Amino acid sequence: MQLKGKTAVVTGSNSGIGLGVARGFAAAGADVVLNSFTDSPEDHRLATDIAAEFGVNTRYIQADMSDPDACRALIEKAGACDILVNNAGIQHVAPVDEFPVEKWNAIIAINLSSAFHTTAAALPLMRAAGWGRVINIASAHGLRASPFKSAYVAAKHGVVGLSKVVALETAREPITCNAICPGYVRTPLVDAQIPDTAKEYGISEEEAIEKVILLKQPSKEFVSVEQVAGIATFLCSDAAEQITGTTISADGGWSAQ
Ligand code: NAD
Repeated sequence: MQLKGKTAVVTGSNSGIGLGVARGFAAAGADVVLNSFTDSPEDHRLATDIAAEFGVNTRYIQADMSDPDACRALIEKAGACDILVNNAGIQHVAPVDEFPVEKWNAIIAINLSSAFHTTAAALPLMRAAGWGRVINIASAHGLRASPFKSAYVAAKHGVVGLSKVVALETAREPITCNAICPGYVRTPLVDAQIPDTAKEYGISEEEAIEKVILLKQPSKEFVSVEQVAGIATFLCSDAAEQITGTTISADGGWSAQ
């Protein structure tokens, strides 16, 4: 599929799903803006490496997605935003009555409010360009709950709701807005949890994956970063033109339960 001439802005894209999605768009010919809150030589090298590999224009723009002004400035600095992927996200696990207020505020700001601010800034650019795609990386936790993840589940449910509203407000325009809801995706973040979980439960790493980490994921397989990237790219295809205001689950059957 050809996304040549389009610019994709992917928040939180110096690792994991965001980086995979950015690479997927570059492979489809789109120019790509990478982002995170850090500003290291490695961050900028990720962008130059993608440019060299896929022959597209890339930039790395530092912006802290917990800061509303920085969210809007990211889109302004990008200059063009045909495809907006709201991916930046963090997690914290604790019971509601012990959940640190600053963690709650940070998760709501980064995982939910940032998508509001970037979308608000990007829609005028999409309207001027006559085409746009807003793709929110929600989660199976945008549709289902788990204990100890109050802020994350609230934020991801919020992202699903926001996606529906943006879809309705843009329904008569060549713009769509959807949420992708992955189950557990094999990212460095998840990888790091496997040995610790095995140790904690006194079981093998294989058992830790099947019985603990993928407890709710009936396929007992991780979703891959490339699969999420493939869904994001599909949402930019002509076939997906009438797909708007919905969720696409990639969770090995989690949300069927
Ligand atoms: P990750 O930690 O590899 O990626 C998170 C990204 O967000 C990183 O690039 C990080 O730098 C960035 N980020 C964090 N705080 C930021 C801030 N203040 N400003 C800008 N960027 C910031 O994790 P991931 O697994 O790739 O997660 C990406 C998204 O996918 C998140 O929204 C997460 O909730 C969602 N998700 C992940 C899984 C999974 O199993 N890994 C499943 C469902 C949904």
